[in-house]
Parts: sequence; C-alpha cells; structure tokens
Amino acid sequence: MLDLTYETPKPKVIQGATGDWELVIGLEVHAQVASNAKLFSGASTEFGAEPNAQVAFVDAAMPGMLPVINEGCIALAVKTGLGLKAQINLTSAFDRKNYFYPDLPQGYQISQLYHPIVGEGEVLVDMEPGVARLVRIERIHLEQDAGKSIHDMDPNMSFVDLNRTGVALMEIVSRPDIRGPEEAAAYVVKLRQILRYLGTCDGNMQNGNLRADVNVSVCRPGDYEKYQASQDFSHLGTRCEIKNMNSMRFIQQAIDFEAKRQIALLEDGKTVDQETRLYDPDKGETRSMRSKEEAHDYRYFPCPDLLPLEIEQGWVDDIAATLPELPDAKKARFVADYGMTEYDAGVLTAELDSAVFFENVAQGRDGKLAANWVINELFGRLNKDDHPIDASPISAGQLGQIIDLLSDDTISGKIAKDVFEIAYTTGRDPAEIVETEGMKQVTDTGAIEAAVDQVMADNPDQVAKAKENPKLAGWFVGQVMKATGGKANPKAVNQLIAKKLGR
Ligand code: ADP
Ligand code: MG
Repeated sequence: MLDLTYETPKPKVIQGATGDWELVIGLEVHAQVASNAKLFSGASTEFGAEPNAQVAFVDAAMPGMLPVINEGCIALAVKTGLGLKAQINLTSAFDRKNYFYPDLPQGYQISQLYHPIVGEGEVLVDMEPGVARLVRIERIHLEQDAGKSIHDMDPNMSFVDLNRTGVALMEIVSRPDIRGPEEAAAYVVKLRQILRYLGTCDGNMQNGNLRADVNVSVCRPGDYEKYQASQDFSHLGTRCEIKNMNSMRFIQQAIDFEAKRQIALLEDGKTVDQETRLYDPDKGETRSMRSKEEAHDYRYFPCPDLLPLEIEQGWVDDIAATLPELPDAKKARFVADYGMTEYDAGVLTAELDSAVFFENVAQGRDGKLAANWVINELFGRLNKDDHPIDASPISAGQLGQIIDLLSDDTISGKIAKDVFEIAYTTGRDPAEIVETEGMKQVTDTGAIEAAVDQVMADNPDQVAKAKENPKLAGWFVGQVMKATGGKANPKAVNQLIAKKLGR
C-alpha cells in the first residue's frame, strides 16, 4: 500500500491565568451497523417507519423470547475492525448491562464489556496536507440500541417507539490521543469516511446513526507526553464525558466550552468532578447530567441467553478479502497516479462516490485536468444546487467528452465552460452541443487575422499605446475573443497580435 508521509500536529494550547493548558480527548462513537435486521431479531432497521411497526417479540422483551444472533451484523463489525487495522477477537461474549428506562423493555442492554469482538486498531486523522494525528482505537464492541421516548407529542403523556430497540450498534472507543477540538471533529469525519467506504455504517448523523460521546480533560504541557511514555492515566486530568453529540460543529464548541470550564475550576483551586454532561447548542454550554457518584451500577454479567461468540480465522480472512481500497490508500494512489496535490486527492476521496466518478472521468485522460474539472466545475456546480455526486445531471462520460474536446483543441477553455453549463442543465451530450451550437474553436488563422485586423482598425489609439507598452496587448486578446464569441484559438490570437504590434 502507498503511504503519504505526515507530521504530527501541535496540540491546542489554552492560556490560563496561571499558565498554559493542553487538552486531552477520547471519543466513544456509536455507529449503527448497516444491517437490514436487528442484532438479535429479524425486525427491520429501516428508518422512518410508523412508530412500533418494526418490533419483534424479543425486542419488546416478551416473556420467554430468546435472542438469536444476526451473523450479518457480526460480519460487518469484523469488517469494520479490519478496516481500522484492528485485532479481531475470535472469541468474544455478550454481557447484560442492567438499567431501567421506559424505552428499554428488557431492563438491560446486551453489550460486550469484558470480551469485545474487536481489539486495538488505529485511525489516521488528517488535519491538513502532510499533517495528521494517529489516534489509537482501544476496542469496538457490539451492543443493542435502545428505543425512543417521545415527550413532545402530547402535553400530558409520553410515548415510546421501540423501532430502534435492538438495532445493532458498534461502539468504537478511542484512546485519549486527540489533542484539540478540531482534531476531535476531524477524527469523527475520518472515522465516518472509513465506515462509509466499508459500507458498515451509513454515517447519517442527522438520523442518529453515528453519534459520539466526547471525553475531555485538561493537563499541563508535558503531562501528556509522560502519559504517552507510561500509559499511566494519573498524569492526565479528571475527565468529563459529553454525551450524544451528532454534529461536528457542536463537538468542537462543546469541547472548547468544557476545556475552559475545567481550567477555570482548576485555577480557582477547585477540582473537576468526573461526570456526564450534556451540551446545549442554544446556550453554547455543557451542563451536568449525572456525576460519577450517582452513576449507575450496571451490574454487568455474562448474558445467559447467548453462548460466547466463536468465529473462525478463515471466515475473518474471507471478509478481509472483500475490503475495498480505503481512503488513505486511495488518496496516496491518486497523488501518485494522477500527479495531483494531496489536497485535491483529499477532496476527491472524501466520498467513495466522488472518487469513483473522478476515476471514470480520468480514465485515459490527463488526470490533473480531470481533477480540476471535477473539483472546480462539477463540485462547484453541484454545491450550488445542493446536489450530491450521485445526483449529478452530467455523467462522468459526458464530462470526459468536454475534456477531450478541450484537449484536442476543438473548443477553447472558455467555451468548454459554456458547454459544461449546457450539458449540466439539459443533459445533452457535449460533442453534440458543440456541433449543433457551432461552438468549435476557430483555428483558421485567416479568420482570426481578419478579426484582429478589424479590432486594430477600430482602435488606432490603443494600437499606438500597445506598441509603446507591450503589456497592453492583452486588451486586444480580450477584444478579439469577444469578437469571435470566445471561439478563436487563444494561442493563435496571441501570436497574431504580437506579430502585428511589431514584436
Ligand atoms: P470508562 O471505563 O469509565 O468508560 P474508559 O477508560 O473506557 O473509561 O474511557 C472511556 C473514554 O474516555 C475513552 O474514549 C478514553 O479514551 C477516554 N479517556 C480516558 N481518560 C481520559 C482523560 N484523562 N481525558 C480524556 N479522555 C479520557
Ligand atoms: Mg469504557
């Protein structure tokens, strides 16, 4: 695999009244497994159904119902682990995490505390070209999602929707390796990108299919390095956990607020209580939800309804053989194969669909030119219309045609943009547009010369000035292009004008 070299970013430093502080951040990301059925039942996971339309007896915890494991979910969790270069545990086990909540009919969540299915892995978090943070993954475990309590449909009653109950989640736990709010958001972006490439989670944050619990602490410069050397957490400050974040922007705002809150406490001679907090985007602040003292005792114990989960190395190898090319490898290959910048490669590989579209355009063509057209013209235009790439009204083949017409000098760069706009809005083929609309570039020097002569004859003063000052020749180029409807070959125009101005 190709690799790009990178430097480690500097940690964010916050200046306090008593000196500098640094941030230490670890994330627990809940990613909904992209399976059609739930983790332990055959009920559908489709989003947007009528409340309680997708609830099997076992999801509703009817007496005597037993969970049956969904092999597809296990395969997707394994695939995720492999995609994060993680260790796959051939033996894992499910535990019951006991608590009472109206949207949790079982009275416990089936999770994997003691023996998760995936062990240590890593995510390379890109900050800017050539700068990235390697964040270690501690573990990934599978667990059930809870249902949803609805409090805003009736003034006097609350409702419960169990459609989500029992849907498979992967909890992806990072080490506290993240050193600032931007890095935390970039970590979620990268993780989401990898999951989407893998097809193991759709990453839809609005629907809550990807959400993060953000752990934040502060420490003095140097303390983190001591922790890194020894992995001894006592060098780090007490952390707070901000629950259920589903926006990159809010993640950053919440971390910023939380770090400053903790610094103010510490500088005031107080201590930070380990607690769970919630971020209020309207007020821009975090507030306490529960402290560690009031924390639940979940009374975890091995789930007696499920045997330990044993998988075979051969099965894991089969899944490994289906892994797609992942973002880091694709980005490095785009830089190497197409000679584009790392920045452009990053833009083109952000979404798998974009990367595929680009490669269809670039096939057999100048890669840099293709990258330029896809990023500047196509993405610019799609953004304006708020269209995703898979809704592009112009196909990769059509965009390729424009590049061909440009490369063989059939059309000029300016006309190419007009052709693009027509093709984009009408769906017509570029070759046909150029033919029908008479947009071919004029390379016939006789015709161009006539246009140059005309412009010069009309502007004798300008000619005199341009003979003195060669920089003014550009004005004539513009006039001739205008006179020829942008169809004159710019090189021929430039040469002719230079000749006629006596240079
Ligand atoms: P718990 O067992 O209480 O859930 P973990 O050790 O599993 O705690 O850590 C939960 C999350 O908190 C992990 O993502 C980890 O990286 C993060 N974390 C641990 N210590 C710190 C710290 N001092 N500052 C920030 N995050 C931390
Ligand atoms: Mg934990």
